[in-house]
Amino acid sequence: MHEPVCRRCRREGKKLFLKGEKCFSQKCPVSRRTYPPGEHGPTMRIKISEYGRQLHEKQRAKAIYGLREEQLKRFFGEAVRRQGDTGENLVRMLELRLDNILYRAGLAASRSLARQMISHGHIKQNGKKVTIASIIASPNDRLQIVGPDVFPRSTFEETPSWLKATAASRTIEVLHAPETEEMPSELDRELIVEYYSR
Ligand code: SF4
Repeated sequence: MHEPVCRRCRREGKKLFLKGEKCFSQKCPVSRRTYPPGEHGPTMRIKISEYGRQLHEKQRAKAIYGLREEQLKRFFGEAVRRQGDTGENLVRMLELRLDNILYRAGLAASRSLARQMISHGHIKQNGKKVTIASIIASPNDRLQIVGPDVFPRSTFEETPSWLKATAASRTIEVLHAPETEEMPSELDRELIVEYYSR
């Protein structure tokens, strides 16, 4: 069950951080082998078209944030409607999803575990229980873990500057929406915009 997930990363040649703790350890196959999976993996060279690169980046966004096609498309439509840079609008919304915030703050080891915590009713947003991981948080929102199922990351990774996480009280404050310079660098936003603008 686990291998297909890790194979996705190996095909990318990059970590997509889909497996929680394992992604931050030496057990991560990408840390050990940078070539794609399969018999021809070590020598494989693929020439990718511009469309292929756009499609590939869009697929990476789906894998990283754990989205279905229609969900990402819906986020993109909303990103277009908002003022400002569409690519930034898109990633900003994805970053502000409740599951992503729990993951970024280190209170969930992966976004899928964060979704599990939320769907099991173990998260409160501004004092009210929420069960929908795709909710977009707003500045000054306060998330709190209230249930027993907590899967924090044991490895250290800095909490983004737009969040304030307090492990002792198991709370996260959204200080503000991520600014341009606070956006994660793991995705090429332009390629995704180009894909959906074709
Ligand atoms: Fe597997 Fe995580 Fe490493 Fe990807 S980053 S290969 S999901 S352990």
